[in-house]
Amino acid sequence: MSEDGMSEQPFWKTKRLDEMNQREWESLCDGCGLCCLNKLEDWDSGDVVFTSVACRLLDGESCQCKDYPNRQATVPECIQLTPQEVNDIPWLPPTCGYRLVRDGEDLYWWHPLVSGDPETVHQAGISARGRTVSEDDVHVDDFEDYVVDWPLTVGQKG
Ligand code: SF4
Ligand code: SF4
Repeated sequence: MSEDGMSEQPFWKTKRLDEMNQREWESLCDGCGLCCLNKLEDWDSGDVVFTSVACRLLDGESCQCKDYPNRQATVPECIQLTPQEVNDIPWLPPTCGYRLVRDGEDLYWWHPLVSGDPETVHQAGISARGRTVSEDDVHVDDFEDYVVDWPLTVGQKG
């Protein structure tokens, strides 16, 4: 509560993405790992679907990048999210913190910024934890056998 009695709003409700400082920006990531899954695009419709085939640098349990500072040496196609990228990328999962703020939505109860606990994104079943295979173990021609719909599962807001 501020001195004038008004409730203080958290930064993700008051700032645009391009107004956030580095710490705020980084903390908007919920750690789900979903953006590190390989995606397939339908050539005719342009629709994008997720697969459970993860980037070779994704740790399937922690959902963290195994070499984040140097990742682009190994995975040059890895996207560095910026406010502009968040506006332009059509496939960010509906649970992604950046997408929610971009669209003027609130974060869900399980987001670490709300819960105060980085485990809740996993406990709520939002993340990729324990349900991926590495792209090192799947031939690219077989990716279509791994299409999943769970990145589109939206949890309850708290
Ligand atoms: S989908 Fe969004 S919230 Fe999830 S890991 Fe990627 S950037 Fe972070
Ligand atoms: S390089 Fe790291 S951050 Fe980039 S897609 Fe792979 S696991 Fe994710």
